[in-house]
Order: sequence, then C-alpha cells, then structure tokens
Amino acid sequence: MYKVLANENLPAFFESLKKIGKVYGPVKVRESSYDFREVESLSEVDLTYTRTMIPPKKFFVKPKETIFDFDEEKLEFKEPPDEEVKVILGVHHCDINALKILDSIYMDETPDKYYIQRRNSSFIIGVSCTPDEYCFCKSVGTSYAQDGFDLFLHEISRGYLVRIGSEKGYELINDNKDLFEDAKPEDTEEFKQNEKERLEAFKLELNVSGIQDMLGLSYEDPVWKETADDCFGCGTCNLVCPTCRCYDVVDYVGLSLKSGERVRRWDSCMLRKHGLVAGGLNFRPTRVERLRNRFNCKGSFTDGSLSCVGCGRCTVYCPAGISFVEVMKKVRGEL
Ligand code: SF4
Ligand code: SF4
Repeated sequence: MYKVLANENLPAFFESLKKIGKVYGPVKVRESSYDFREVESLSEVDLTYTRTMIPPKKFFVKPKETIFDFDEEKLEFKEPPDEEVKVILGVHHCDINALKILDSIYMDETPDKYYIQRRNSSFIIGVSCTPDEYCFCKSVGTSYAQDGFDLFLHEISRGYLVRIGSEKGYELINDNKDLFEDAKPEDTEEFKQNEKERLEAFKLELNVSGIQDMLGLSYEDPVWKETADDCFGCGTCNLVCPTCRCYDVVDYVGLSLKSGERVRRWDSCMLRKHGLVAGGLNFRPTRVERLRNRFNCKGSFTDGSLSCVGCGRCTVYCPAGISFVEVMKKVRGEL
C-alpha cells in the first residue's frame, strides 16, 4: 500500500509518533556530523542527513551495558529491565538492510533475549537518501530496503510517498487516517523518477562478483602489508560499521567475591587484545593479520547477504584515510 504524507501534515505525524514511544532521529551535532538522538520536535531532526557516525545498531546492541549484577549476601540477581518502545525515525536503506543482517545473527542463529526484546519494541521509519561520494550500497545490493521497516518515507515534491512495511505501520496509518491520502498517479510517477535519478547518482562502485574467492586467493597479497603500514589499529572502522557485531563480556567482581556485575561491550577485531586468549596466546598478533581478517569478514556472506552494506562509514571515519573500496579493488587486481 502506498500513501502520501503531505508536508503540512508532517508536524502532526511527528506528534502521532510520540504516542507510540520515545522518538529518536538524525540530529546534526557538528558540521557534517550526525547522531541518532532523542527528539521532542520535528525541527530537531534533519531528514536530509548523509550518515550518522554510529549506526542505529546502537539501539539494539549497546556499546556497553550491564547484563546482570548480583549480590550473594542480599540474595539478589538483577537483569536490566525490558526497554520501552522506541520510534527510530529516518533510517536509511543501507542501515535497514544492516539490521536485517544483525537479526539473522542475534534472532535466528544465536537468539539474544536483549536484542530480541529491543527489536520487537521498536518502530522503524525509513527515509530515502541521496548517495554521496562514499556510498556504494548500490554495488552490494542494499540501496533499497524491501522490508525490515514499519514505514518508509520517500521524498516527493508535496511531501512523502509512504510505503507500509508492517502491521504496526498499517495501524499507525489507520489510527491517523486524516494525515494520509491515497497516492495519485503523479505521486507514484515522481517516486519512480526520483528512484531512477537516485540510482544514477552513485559515483562509487565496487565489483563484488566472486569477492570471497578474490579475497581467499589474495592471502599473501602485498596489499595487506601496504595498508597495515598506514593503519593506526584504532578500531574505528569496526565501531562505526552497522554490521560489525563482535562483543566482549567482562565480569567485574568485588573483593569479597560475593557481588559484582557482568558487562557486555562492543569489541573490535582491529584491536590487538581482541585475539588475546588464556595463556597469553594471540591468534592474530600482527596488524596485517587483523586487517586481512576484517576485510575477509566484510567480504563474507551472512544468510546470503554480503556482510558489508556499502554505507561508507569505515572510509569516512578512518583517521588514516584508508578507503574500503580502494583496498577491495586492489585485492581484485583492479587498481
Ligand atoms: S565495511 Fe564499511 S562500508 Fe561496509 S558496512 Fe561496514 S562500515 Fe559500511
Ligand atoms: S579506522 Fe582506519 S586506522 Fe583505524 S583500525 Fe580501521 S583501518 Fe586502521
């Protein structure tokens, strides 16, 4: 079903979202820097944003959280309470597709009750975007979210063409019928034209045909040493990646050994300590090995989807200026 949300109805639409739960949206925090933050009014949100530094995965897998604490003397064992409903407004196609990859890991492969509760209590509203020079989602097949959202807003001249992606999305529209109109042929024509122009606007391309084989055959390629020589080993590329999902679990126990907490926090395979195991062995002791591993991981498939959605974050935020696409092109022998 396709509806139209006219510009004049946007403020009322935003107010209707607040009845569902706390609303989060992309907020400009510095020049060219955006973050998903809680918002009280539509004027705080910039739906024309490029990308946030930290992807929306932060709502579902927290950068750092206590998963339980215990006190033996008080006979207490506490887990974090269930989270309230969140509306996440303005999620781009690539980030919605990245969440689907996380779903297959955290909901299907190894069900994670915290992730599942947060996913089930979220309302996702996608918004269309215009690619910049770092986006290559078109090359990896994630430039359009077919599902994985409740509503999706595509900008047209008189507002937004709205795609409905779930029962919850349908209910919101049904409860606010006066804010939405049926899409007219001129609206759908404009949507098609905009999509055509959006796809033509991609400047960056990456050939992912046979990418796993290309990586497998490049184990000894000098590209890993050359790139590792520039890399600071800071781990930023992992932390900003919407599909990276490695975490560490640490127990902090009091001196009495009778109370403490278990903390889960994001980890990065680019950090030296990630490969450190009991006995002091490090299974990836060099930066070359860590870098090669990361690219092999991103060039692998999860449930048929490439583990990179082409958001460009790892290139944009790499302090050493390492370009993900450039490295992959060198691996393929194209540069
Ligand atoms: S590897 Fe880089 S471009 Fe690909 S999804 Fe992760 S951050 Fe985005
Ligand atoms: S962000 Fe750049 S410098 Fe930092 S670990 Fe990743 S590739 Fe290396």
